[in-house]
Amino acid sequence: MPERLSPPKSIKEICSTLERAGHEAWCVGGAVRDALLGIPTLDWDIATSAHPEQVQKLFRRTIPVGIQFGTVGVLDRDGVLHEVTTFRHDVETDGRHAVVRYGASLDEDLARRDFTMNAIAVHAERLEVRDPFDGRGDLERKLVRCVGEASERMREDRLRALRALRFAGRFGFAIEPATWQAIKESAPHLGRLSVERVKQELEKVMEQVARPSQTLERYREAGVFGTLIPALADVPTARFAAIDHLARPGLKGRPDRRALRLAALFVEPGVAPARDLERTLKALKYSNVEARAAVVLAEAGAVVLSTGVDDVTLRRAVARIGRLTLASAARLRWARGAAELGPQATEDQRRTARLAGIRLYRRAVRIAWRDPLTIGDLAVDGDDLRSAGVPPGRAMGDTLQRLLELVLDDPAKNERETLLADIRATLAGPSR
Ligand code: ATP
Ligand code: MG
Repeated sequence: MPERLSPPKSIKEICSTLERAGHEAWCVGGAVRDALLGIPTLDWDIATSAHPEQVQKLFRRTIPVGIQFGTVGVLDRDGVLHEVTTFRHDVETDGRHAVVRYGASLDEDLARRDFTMNAIAVHAERLEVRDPFDGRGDLERKLVRCVGEASERMREDRLRALRALRFAGRFGFAIEPATWQAIKESAPHLGRLSVERVKQELEKVMEQVARPSQTLERYREAGVFGTLIPALADVPTARFAAIDHLARPGLKGRPDRRALRLAALFVEPGVAPARDLERTLKALKYSNVEARAAVVLAEAGAVVLSTGVDDVTLRRAVARIGRLTLASAARLRWARGAAELGPQATEDQRRTARLAGIRLYRRAVRIAWRDPLTIGDLAVDGDDLRSAGVPPGRAMGDTLQRLLELVLDDPAKNERETLLADIRATLAGPSR
């Protein structure tokens, strides 16, 4: 048996503790699959015949991470948590919740898992493999296939439809026909899934799949967007492809990258983003900050992605996103440009597009650091306004905003005397 199937020492120790107490213990799930594919993996999950309270008694430090589903987190010597889950049957599923029953055998436990490649077990010491559904065969054939009858398995839990699409994208696998059929059948029912589970899937696609566009296209083809995010059901292919050219968000943090990828999904050159975009993103449980950032980027992107942008439009866009977000907008433009060109583009076409992007970016940078973009950049301040006779309160803010509009249109007007003259003229009213 290949050495790569051998789990790390801490996993072996947990398994042998369980076995010495008379229970069965096997490595299962994603880590076994990844190890067979030759992908390094850290999260080795353990399945055992021991019941959760027996697991809790056997180990010094445990955390009841998913105790209602039979999962106990066991902390190893270094404080790293490993999930130990009791063999179980899933009884009673309604496409959303599972009610579990213990007392299952390893084979029964493997049978309740979603895909053949996820239903392989390895013994930590003997490296003996249990593979009742020929998961290894499907890994070799590069196929995502449901364990058992596909449409029935997806009726039990509709999330499996999204998981299948993700695994296919992540490993570059095809989807076995009955499984694909069941995904399409599931699409109209995905609205029943909790938003949290859906969001997590979307984020895993963005994080784990090297070329998310293929997975997003499959989402669309299967009818997933029609149910989950109708705004994406009928958009140009380049929107999805642009994502492939933007850096992955990374498992920890990088919300700016996440916002950029979100913006890429919703941006259209020369078209203001839909008014309800922010609501759409919040409904998907993106934080206010992230949703806002994506909307602003999509707005700015709509400008910087269009051709023949004049200085005033560009200046207003830069003012809106802020100087520091400019590089993100440029990245958005570059990614979409690369996506529009497609993989068949000639080197010449690429160069031309790149140069056009660089020229626009340079113009924007010049505007950003030369021209007044915020109230703080105005050649007059609140004190000047007061001396000129602007009453305190709302009129003050309104006046500053009006002056800013003025200089955004024509930065040459950002001279103290010019602005003060304008204030006096306005205060004198229309009679003048
Ligand atoms: P990842 O690398 O994304 O973590 P994974 O296969 O480890 O992939 P998990 O969500 O961590 O996925 O689940 C661990 C295992 O539990 C899976 O390999 C599969 O056997 C089983 N499993 C998870 N979700 C489901 C589900 N919705 N239906 C059936 N089995 C599932
Ligand atoms: Mg996992």
